[in-house]
Amino acid sequence: MVNSDGTSDVLGARVWVGTSWKMNKTIDEGLSYIDEVCAATVGPGVQLFVLPAHTALAAVRDRLPRGSRLLLGAQNAHWGPEGAGTGEISMRMAKDAGARIVEMGHSERREHFGETDATVAAKAQAALEHGLIPLICVGEPLAVRETGDPWPFVSAQVSAALAGVEPAQIADVLLAYEPVWAIGAGGRRPAAEEVAPVMARLSQLLGEMGQGRRPRALLYGGSVDETNAAELLALPAVDGLFVGRAGWDAARFLQVAAQAARYTRTGVTEM
Ligand code: PEP
Repeated sequence: MVNSDGTSDVLGARVWVGTSWKMNKTIDEGLSYIDEVCAATVGPGVQLFVLPAHTALAAVRDRLPRGSRLLLGAQNAHWGPEGAGTGEISMRMAKDAGARIVEMGHSERREHFGETDATVAAKAQAALEHGLIPLICVGEPLAVRETGDPWPFVSAQVSAALAGVEPAQIADVLLAYEPVWAIGAGGRRPAAEEVAPVMARLSQLLGEMGQGRRPRALLYGGSVDETNAAELLALPAVDGLFVGRAGWDAARFLQVAAQAARYTRTGVTEM
């Protein structure tokens, strides 16, 4: 994958579009997907990332063309350096397999795999220590949204996750707001107006925590696809999108990327 203007600008992007394959794709299926994405031209200023399953990560890394600006990441990694962690991989192992990003705090892992604010905080610190970009997911469940004010819940998750992170390190963090009620097959597609206030407050909170430094990017995730990407990208505090189901198909992922190519970080159309 190259920019449509022929340049390659890893990490220099203004708009991020990423997907986690979750528990999908064999190695061969993953390689076909990557071949399709890497054959595409994507507008300058769009930073794509893909989080394969651990089993496919190294194979995907080896398949990327030289100079590719597609970033890879792991969907999870343990905070500890090594040892008795059956079923886990360490940050070092994730990096060794090709990860530059490590996801943590996804609601599925919080709900089903015992991930807590404390373990997310430990993972964030461990990722940064290994030169990896922590992709920290936060978001309120439906019951909290129905109280009318998700902010106390969301801000508490963010504060806990970043408790051990130095202000200067905020600039290395990716943060994804993923309201639980909007995620997955049973999720409700949000209106942009439901997302906007939380994104704005997240932007402000992270700016304060970073003492003026912005995070690497502030992403929205949950029922995003090629039909609603533009309205979400138009929100001023949205630096990009974290896509689930719609990202599992390379053509649809590229359609979301095409939407992103029209937006700068401040939501002003470039076309
Ligand atoms: C997710 O689970 O992180 C996600 C964004 O899912 P979906 O887009 O499928 O709602």
